[in-house]
Amino acid sequence: MIAASSTTGQLTPMISGSRWQRVLADAVSSPAELIEILGLDPAQVPGALQATSGFSLRVPRGFVARMRHGDPRDPLLLQVLPREQELLSVDGFITDPVGDLASRAGAGLLHKYEGRALLVATGACAIHCRYCFRRHFPYDEESALASGWRGAIETLRQDPSIHELILSGGDPLSLSDRRLTQLTDALRDVPHIRRLRIHTRYPVVLPERIDDGLLKWLSDLPLQKVVVIHANHANELNGEVNAACRVLAGVGATLLNQTVLLADINDSVEALTALSETLFSQGVLPYYLHLLDRVRGAAHFEVSEAEALRLHAQLLTRLPGYLVPRLVREIPGAASKTPVTLAAGGC
Ligand code: SF4
Repeated sequence: MIAASSTTGQLTPMISGSRWQRVLADAVSSPAELIEILGLDPAQVPGALQATSGFSLRVPRGFVARMRHGDPRDPLLLQVLPREQELLSVDGFITDPVGDLASRAGAGLLHKYEGRALLVATGACAIHCRYCFRRHFPYDEESALASGWRGAIETLRQDPSIHELILSGGDPLSLSDRRLTQLTDALRDVPHIRRLRIHTRYPVVLPERIDDGLLKWLSDLPLQKVVVIHANHANELNGEVNAACRVLAGVGATLLNQTVLLADINDSVEALTALSETLFSQGVLPYYLHLLDRVRGAAHFEVSEAEALRLHAQLLTRLPGYLVPRLVREIPGAASKTPVTLAAGGC
């Protein structure tokens, strides 16, 4: 298996078990190796070899295979390759941009929105996204797993207003099937939880994770299931991703996608249109298009609100409404994700 040791995805290979765990253990973790695989010169990607401190590189080889050889501007590469801009200190970009720690309801449990609670199930991820808003999250201190889920389950039990549990992280599917089963078995004692929502990049970045064991766990759950995959570009969505999404739908999961609007990666109407079209062809509905959370080290990914509104308006003219994701941002302390509209944006 793979164990998380500290911050997002500080993964320590232990004993290999399932195939997906072996694929994960074999992920690329060296910027130099990634650059070499893609036939790039280090001079084409300034900072790639230096900017990893505190947040290492990690990318599964199957995801690397979807990148264009020899292209330092590849939209998948730009999501994972450290860049020199990460080292800059930029006003307004902070370590906890969405107010996670102010929302904690117990170790690893966040309660921001009515009726829903979010469990930071693990700090481990299959991929390290350089724009991640939890790249500085103190996973060591905020682990619900450390108490065998007992603290989080007890907090949930005492609040009958919560009907939906959101599994987040890190990436909750980094947990073994045994750990996931332990959690959902404990949830059977909390009858007011009706829905389980799983936020995960695994179906996209490491579709091997969607194996028979995981599907059995999902299909046995006496809960409604929502799986929110996090794809940012149509090039991420190949045949293996399609197959993973199809089998997830086959065990009763509703599939939605969340995208972060990212400079130089998907900030064009062509890229966003292709993403929505491809998602739908794979049985996934585009759900949210997020403005970047202003986390320290990620300022170079930001797209302005005015540009986001312009892109969103163009999407509305190109796509049927059900393929246009809602443009939102997260404001600490707000009662929900905040829609970004012309009125709200003041443009
Ligand atoms: S965006 Fe998601 S998958 Fe990527 S590093 Fe952050 S928590 Fe992990």
